[in-house]
Amino acid sequence: MEKINLNPVLDNWWLATLVVLVFTTGRYLLLSGIAFVLCYKPGLKQLKKFKIQPAMPAKKQMKYELLFSFSTICIFSVIGIIVFLLYINGYTTIYTSISEHGWGYFFLSLVIMIILHDTYFYWTHRLLHTRWFFKKIHTVHHRSANPTPLAAYSFHPFEALIESLIVFLFVTVWPVHIFAFLSFTFLVLVMNVIGHLGFEFMPRKFRDSTPGKCLTSSTHHNLHHQKSNKNFGYYFTFWDKLMKTLQNEIPRSRLKN
Ligand SMILES: [Zn+2]
Ligand SMILES: [Zn+2]
Repeated sequence: MEKINLNPVLDNWWLATLVVLVFTTGRYLLLSGIAFVLCYKPGLKQLKKFKIQPAMPAKKQMKYELLFSFSTICIFSVIGIIVFLLYINGYTTIYTSISEHGWGYFFLSLVIMIILHDTYFYWTHRLLHTRWFFKKIHTVHHRSANPTPLAAYSFHPFEALIESLIVFLFVTVWPVHIFAFLSFTFLVLVMNVIGHLGFEFMPRKFRDSTPGKCLTSSTHHNLHHQKSNKNFGYYFTFWDKLMKTLQNEIPRSRLKN
């Protein structure tokens, strides 16, 4: 029997772990951190009119959001390391040269990942709102009734695991360029930061337009944290409309923007 060569794993293990940890932690600190400092720093009174819920969140809630976000970072890092190990051992469909499939395929693969992830997120999110899962798991995320960007990764470890499993589909079934995959994971965090921002900067005129109504917004997910049985979508409102779980926005007169 041919001996399995473990050298690629042994050579790259620590470096891969370090890179994945720095990348996963760094992008959370950067995006959530910048959004938090810009929106919640005392003195930025001019942003008050963009605040979705008038009250400022309690410090205790922010500490809780940070704690669970760091727990999620650990889980996402483990998933990242597993993807890396699969890649260096030739078990993934990740490629590194654009010329292999061209730019058209690069963007198409990104769009496919977004559409599939939107569907996956909607239905797993609905599952997490069933009685048992909500009480035992998803309640961690919903402790932020008035979320801040620090809640972008504030999940129970089981929820973090469930939400990350779809990446194995994306790196093993059809070809995916490494940067298309990394762009997708980056977009997931960007959408999470927007959804938990607590402020709405998207102009009301755009939100009321036809394309605007197809996209989720800060208000869309903020309402989910307030009501919890509406607005389950991630990027689009398609599934919420189809399944009649879409919650209309707060009347224009109360938003004043
Ligand atoms: Zn949320
Ligand atoms: Zn929820």
